[in-house]
Amino acid sequence: MSSKGKGIRAAARVRDIRYAVRDVVQLAKEIEATGREMFYLNIGDPNIFDFETPAHIRAAAEDAMERNRNGYADSDGVPEALDAIRAEAEGKGIRAIRHVWIGNGVSEVVDMALTALADPGENVLIPSPGYPLYSALLTKLGVEAREYFLDEEDGWQPDPEDIAARIDEKTRAVVVINPNNPTGSVASRETLQRIVDLAEEHGLVVFADEIYDRLLMDGERHVPLASLSETASVLTLGGLSKNHVAPGWRIGWGIMSGVQEVVAEYVSGIQQLGRTRLSANHPEQYAIKPALQGDQGHIAEMMARLTERRDLMLEILGGVEGISCVPPRGAFYAFPRLPDDVDDAEWARNLMKETGVVVVPGSGFGQRPGTRHFRIVLLPPLEILGEACRRIAAFTMSG
Ligand code: PLP
Repeated sequence: MSSKGKGIRAAARVRDIRYAVRDVVQLAKEIEATGREMFYLNIGDPNIFDFETPAHIRAAAEDAMERNRNGYADSDGVPEALDAIRAEAEGKGIRAIRHVWIGNGVSEVVDMALTALADPGENVLIPSPGYPLYSALLTKLGVEAREYFLDEEDGWQPDPEDIAARIDEKTRAVVVINPNNPTGSVASRETLQRIVDLAEEHGLVVFADEIYDRLLMDGERHVPLASLSETASVLTLGGLSKNHVAPGWRIGWGIMSGVQEVVAEYVSGIQQLGRTRLSANHPEQYAIKPALQGDQGHIAEMMARLTERRDLMLEILGGVEGISCVPPRGAFYAFPRLPDDVDDAEWARNLMKETGVVVVPGSGFGQRPGTRHFRIVLLPPLEILGEACRRIAAFTMSG
């Protein structure tokens, strides 16, 4: 029988994949086409606002292209970049580094690391709320994304007791995002220590997603999770997207630390996968060393602006009955709470239609049952962010 003209069926594994940060854009574009002024507060891309990749980092990538570093790189990455990543990690107290590799963004590094780790029927503990990359990739792999909760009453700290209660014999890893997206919370040393100890006791890999580790407010200090144990198996994740304002370059890395005999087979699985995709983006890798070792002046400047923007957001939304917000202290997001009887997805859709403000509903990141939130990015300049927050306030009060 001929199949000519028949629709092409998509594989079952992609049907349940959700990625709320971009999924909301479809409706936003439809609304924009009607001529409405839109405020896109849905995506964590600093370069679409008034932040730029620092000149010395840009120059290094441009220079690499000039020097015709435009072929494939080694599958793990170029040696000078790998050395710089390792040196930075050691400088932060991460010992027992067993493997470092570069991928097309932390997104690809996580994809490789989960693919090489878990089989269908197993589970990985992910933070709720948390960045939806992890649940999307786990859905693709047929691995259960098992949520553990961050405690809103405790400044969105991860709850180690909740983690402990969810571990079973099929659990392979626990993901910690610190500073956290979407809450902007920064985890305490004590909390991180308890998570590392739990992971070690149960033979789990910790995915320490520290892509925002230099973006801190109010004098907060970041504790690299892998620095708390030389024997736990920790995959520390970092990259150029956020700290170094170059998300479009798609450069991220993974640093596997722990006991050599314990992680050896896993690392060789990751390397096997790495070879099949040849290499990550090549010329941009030459920007890693100058990014990590060069002038960091842009960070202080960026955080001064973000702190001002956060304070404005807190001031405007703080005056709205029904909205409360744990003040973010890192990254560039906030996760304000809505009244429990509101449907956050519907609320976000109506907000978009009535005011043009695009935010991501809390359900896109996970939230404790019965609670409702939305995520807002703090990146827009004061005038835009202020106007968007005033519209959110008026919309909420009118509803
Ligand atoms: N991890 C977290 C916590 C993020 O918020 C993001 C992007 O928003 C990523 C990873 C993706 O990073 P990359 O651009 O390196 O793929």
